[in-house]
Amino acid sequence: MLVQKPTLHIIGAGWAGLSAAVRACQSGFEVHLYESAPTLGGRAASHIKNHQPLDHGQHILIGAYESTLKLLTLLGGSHAQQFNRLGLAILDAQGQGFKLPLDRFGFKALRALLQNKRWRSIDKLGVLWTGFYWLLNPDTRALLKDIDRDDLSMGRDMSVKDFFAPIPDRIMDDLIEPLCLSALNTNIHEASARLLLRVLRDAFQDLPRSCELLIPKVPLGELLPGPARLWLERHGAHIHPSKRVRSLLEFKSEDIVVLCTSAKEAARLCASVASDWAQCAQALEHERICTVYLRSQADSKSQVLPDLIALDAREPGSAQFAIKNHHCSTEDNIQWAFVISAAPQLENEKFEDIIIRQAQHQLGLVNIEVLQCVCDKQATFKAKCGLKRPPQFVGQNIWAAGDYVMGPYPSTLEGAVRSGQQTIDLIEQELLRALPRHPASRTAELSSKSSSN
Ligand SMILES: Cc1cc2nc3c(=O)[nH]c(=O)nc-3n(C[C@H](O)[C@H](O)[C@H](O)COP(=O)(O)OP(=O)(O)OC[C@H]3O[C@@H](n4cnc5c(N)ncnc54)[C@H](O)[C@@H]3O)c2cc1C
Repeated sequence: MLVQKPTLHIIGAGWAGLSAAVRACQSGFEVHLYESAPTLGGRAASHIKNHQPLDHGQHILIGAYESTLKLLTLLGGSHAQQFNRLGLAILDAQGQGFKLPLDRFGFKALRALLQNKRWRSIDKLGVLWTGFYWLLNPDTRALLKDIDRDDLSMGRDMSVKDFFAPIPDRIMDDLIEPLCLSALNTNIHEASARLLLRVLRDAFQDLPRSCELLIPKVPLGELLPGPARLWLERHGAHIHPSKRVRSLLEFKSEDIVVLCTSAKEAARLCASVASDWAQCAQALEHERICTVYLRSQADSKSQVLPDLIALDAREPGSAQFAIKNHHCSTEDNIQWAFVISAAPQLENEKFEDIIIRQAQHQLGLVNIEVLQCVCDKQATFKAKCGLKRPPQFVGQNIWAAGDYVMGPYPSTLEGAVRSGQQTIDLIEQELLRALPRHPASRTAELSSKSSSN
């Protein structure tokens, strides 16, 4: 380990800032973590409402979120207690749709497609034809090769709509569009095929575990922010909640600052010292996600509905998915989260009306009571085809981490956690590079670092 490490100031305690803080403590930095809100967790935090924890929107993880799951384990969490695990299934209320069998291997994805009763033979032939098209078309073939080699240096990309051009409309509507919206929160016409394929590659890499859907059984605040806070305090980090950093001049120039705020706030903070970086961060566009939480009577019909249901979302403002929140349900009531990805600009009351209609007509729910509508208009960055994201290095002793910073993932918890860890690793490498050039001391430092890992 390096003898004397500079003090590290992490601004923002969302999942990126928390994962950066944990990694930095493990690497032996003195860590200060600043958060403008009174609670930690950022966009994936829980707040207390009517004496109950309420999440800032429904979040779903997948089994391929390796860095996040490892971090939760490090912080003492047990995945069995934290998550309700579901196989990958996009099923409607009648149980029809795409379902990947968890217990069988081989051509499972293909088999699941071919066995789907909602699709006609011509649709299934269209899927096979799409596979040939990808091999024959030089652009799609090159993009698939980049993803396979994990080589994004060519910057190749196309929209999801173009990548899946030959796929029949019905399969586009039933499978590709819901997958794209849930993974990228961006419509298929604009969404980056590169980012979607990268997530799908990881999701299908280590089947069946990697593509499981993990629905939190505990409030988000108890998943990462709470345990991370306890861990950080035990490891000597200084946590400053309700402290908004107004300017980078608040820190000594020899200290290291890691911006883990939103892209816009990071751009504001560094505008005078790194204008190109700030412009790139500022140019990112954002998409809304709204979650309508409601309660319905637990009758015999609603009890047998799947835990995650794909909805007909053709009406603007309607939800694509309804999720049962078992941990908030009782014998008499079921609590649901209806998720509206890439949501249009509407009043909360309007969303609530649309969702009540969906709940009644598509799921047959009765005695519905809306609990809360949470809308975040900057929920994720718009994962547009060919998108430029700002890098980790901002300027002298200033770095950035966050779900929007350059990386292989879209705006997700895994993107945030990976980014936090990666930025600390880069800072560490940079400090090692800056060590005195004497070969013996350098070798000693490097070997002591690798033996401490
Ligand atoms: C409704 C909703 C649903 C979502 N669903 C999913 C999902 O199902 N799966 C998934 O993987 N992802 C989902 N996401 C995305 C996920 O929540 C984000 O990608 C992730 O939380 C981003 O974390 P972050 O740390 O990069 O940023 P943030 O969470 O935005 O953290 C930034 C932090 O910096 C703080 N801050 C800002 N300015 C300052 C300042 N000047 N001084 C001090 N502190 C400051 C903020 O208060 C905030 O806490 C969803 C997001 C939303 C909003």
